[in-house]
Amino acid sequence: MPRVDLIQGDITVVEVDAVVNAANSSLLGGGGVDGAIHRNGGPSILEECQRIRREQHSEGLPTGRAVATTAGKLPARWVIHTVGPVYSATEDRSHLLASCHTESLRVADDLGAGSIAFPAISTGIYGYPLEAAADVALSTVTDSNTDVDLIMFVLFEERAMRVFEATLGRIQRVKGRTS
Ligand code: ADP
Repeated sequence: MPRVDLIQGDITVVEVDAVVNAANSSLLGGGGVDGAIHRNGGPSILEECQRIRREQHSEGLPTGRAVATTAGKLPARWVIHTVGPVYSATEDRSHLLASCHTESLRVADDLGAGSIAFPAISTGIYGYPLEAAADVALSTVTDSNTDVDLIMFVLFEERAMRVFEATLGRIQRVKGRTS
């Protein structure tokens, strides 16, 4: 099981090999984490995103998928862009949120990244309830087969930090009982 750490703060300043962006399918920037990454990382990230749109994903990056670019001026080496699901109260989209995490880790493995930082994907503009998102994100990464040694979740708000801490504690207690 990879080591999973939780910290509260801004994902754009974290020193890891790869930072995950909660992008939208256009890959052309947005608000929240996406806005902060492009603002602080500089224009080279957007240039690579535009090239990926032209060469690989002319219709946009599908929900649940992930692609990597340079991290520009960020301390990280790469940004892994993934598209979370918009929350729906009538349709279970948790498999798509889980896919964001497994696909990002697969891309990180392809890059040879030893450490990765995730934001709380889909819990901002996309409206996913924090408790449900924390459960999907943390159970997916703790179950994943990856060569990444350190998986960090960087939670912007105190409430998100509290929810992720409680959820990780519960998952680790259950795993401790069954392993
Ligand atoms: P989505 O569209 O997937 O919901 P958002 O970027 O709107 O993505 O929000 C995802 C989460 O990231 C929210 O919990 C938000 O509070 C948080 N967030 C916003 N800015 C940052 C940042 N600079 N670093 C880490 N997390 C952030």
